[in-house]
Amino acid sequence: MSDTTHAGLTIEITPGVDIPAHLVGEVQSKLAYVDERIRAAEVAPSGDRITLQVQAEEDTPQLQAELDEKVQRVIDTMVKGAFKPKIQVLEDHLQRPTPYNQDPMQELVARGEVSQEATGMFSLGPLVTRLIDYFEDQFLGLADAFDANPYRFPTLIPAKYLERVNYFSAFPHSLSFVTHLREDLDVIDEFAQHAACDQHGLNTPPDSFAQVQALLSPAVCYHLYFSLADQPLPNGRLAATAVGSCFRYEAINLASLERLWNFTMREVIFVGPKDYVLKNRENARQHMSQVLEETGLAYRVESANDPFFIGEFRKQAAFQSAFQLKFEIRARLPFEDSTLAVGSYNYHQDFFGRHLNISLPDGSPAHTGCVAFGLERIAFAFLAQYGLDVRDWPASVREAVHG
Ligand code: AMP
Ligand code: ZN
Repeated sequence: MSDTTHAGLTIEITPGVDIPAHLVGEVQSKLAYVDERIRAAEVAPSGDRITLQVQAEEDTPQLQAELDEKVQRVIDTMVKGAFKPKIQVLEDHLQRPTPYNQDPMQELVARGEVSQEATGMFSLGPLVTRLIDYFEDQFLGLADAFDANPYRFPTLIPAKYLERVNYFSAFPHSLSFVTHLREDLDVIDEFAQHAACDQHGLNTPPDSFAQVQALLSPAVCYHLYFSLADQPLPNGRLAATAVGSCFRYEAINLASLERLWNFTMREVIFVGPKDYVLKNRENARQHMSQVLEETGLAYRVESANDPFFIGEFRKQAAFQSAFQLKFEIRARLPFEDSTLAVGSYNYHQDFFGRHLNISLPDGSPAHTGCVAFGLERIAFAFLAQYGLDVRDWPASVREAVHG
């Protein structure tokens, strides 16, 4: 079924199997990667209807058939045989009273506090930057509590390392590639003369680019593991912290400060024996529980899974859930009655230790875990709960930001 609007076509698809409630959001986010013509996608909360906004001149049986086949493939792969994970709630402060219930984005833009360069790329002004600095101070306090050593990592990440940790099969959809012009005088001259942008992006002469050797980092902690690869772990344990730019291409899901292509992550990272990593992950949660109480944030900590691509999704999500590998700090967004992950507590078992050959003194592979915060997101969630008027903010945040 479809109808035509001047913005494009609306196409409805009936899933071959109903999408269970716990997978509605996961399937919806994957529809962004199904076909370049899809401009918006929505799975009905009942899971029995999908509505696509499609950029196409004309509705044809072929268009319908192509989209239907791809969408059904996503559903079949993600839904068939999936079981409902038991959500474990470790903390619930979602009902903590907060004074604001609007989307702060409009006011942030009007005040010049946020300006959009392109989809998923934003510049932030002084108030938001100071608020992020406040949260950074809290995260550095967390790092200090573990005597975590500071590190700085590159923004680029080598393709060969990402391959070693199976990143290409787990998260292909969100990768961001880096290249450069081939080192050839004619190629560079041709580019200099002909490179030009149109509304779709940059047009270049064919064969301008070198083979991809690097990507933009999707996370911070990988760099630490790469630096420890193929050797015994000195002292048998390590606590580290670093902040860095991270990149995840989220297609049409990119929206406001909630979901960025280019965002910033602070991590506190633990490498060592299993009990060391698990104990520190739990201690970090307890430390952050006090910090978040002081900031007044309304949130819940609950079990979660990473956004694996469709082929890996069912198996990996079930595995993460069964072994309680990931918990998210989900802050309330009152203006849309939803929650947003502002941070996560992760345990990777000995996955990185095995794939990167990082060994403990007894010769066994090291275990790893990390606590990761999205800086733009935590500031956004705070502003969604407290607004832009600092007089309404909890005293500790107000004083730190405003002096
Ligand atoms: P993860 O490694 O997926 O648990 O990510 C750690 C944190 O980074 C999340 O809890 C978010 O706060 C933040 N984050 C992840 N993806 C994005 C994104 N696309 N835009 C903004 N923040 C993000
Ligand atoms: Zn990490």
